[in-house]
Amino acid sequence: MLKAVYPGSFDPITNGHLDIIERCVSFVDELVVAVLDNPSKKSLFTVEERIKHITEATAHIPGVSVKSFHGLLVDFCRLEKAKLVIRGLRAVTDFEYEFNMALANRKLDPKIETIFVSASANYMFVSSSGIKEIAMFGGCVEDMVPENVKHCLYEKFKNREEETNGFHN
Ligand code: ADP
Repeated sequence: MLKAVYPGSFDPITNGHLDIIERCVSFVDELVVAVLDNPSKKSLFTVEERIKHITEATAHIPGVSVKSFHGLLVDFCRLEKAKLVIRGLRAVTDFEYEFNMALANRKLDPKIETIFVSASANYMFVSSSGIKEIAMFGGCVEDMVPENVKHCLYEKFKNREEETNGFHN
């Protein structure tokens, strides 16, 4: 029984993340998508909202569960009894950061292995931060995020715009 953890901010989940998840379940039995709960990192969506988005978007994929974690990733992996960490790589720019993190995690727990899964060519340019910026200015995020996330993004920015307008009036 091979169990893996796919950690990240997922603020919000994108089709790039979803593609990694779909490909991972072809070689792991269980995949825990782990949303990092880091109050010092400013996020657009709350952890609860992000968990809801991922749960809905992965409902059709067997073997996937969604949880939040805080603190050290290796502690969460031990708690989950998972020996594998999955990370996605889009380009060389991701590599240095990801490689450092994998080495640090190996130092903390040599029994936990990190596996890098390459992004699909279609989603190499897709990032949560890029998507938030596009959506904020009313751009089209079709095919970049799951349908449920698309609606939540527009709602979030619509509400923010209304709040800002209300504030100025
Ligand atoms: P973090 O803040 O931990 O980087 P993210 O939610 O941005 O969290 O990303 C989680 C993981 O998914 C990272 O390993 C990242 O490189 C990977 N990832 C992000 N976007 C894509 C994408 N479009 N295709 C493949 N992997 C991706």
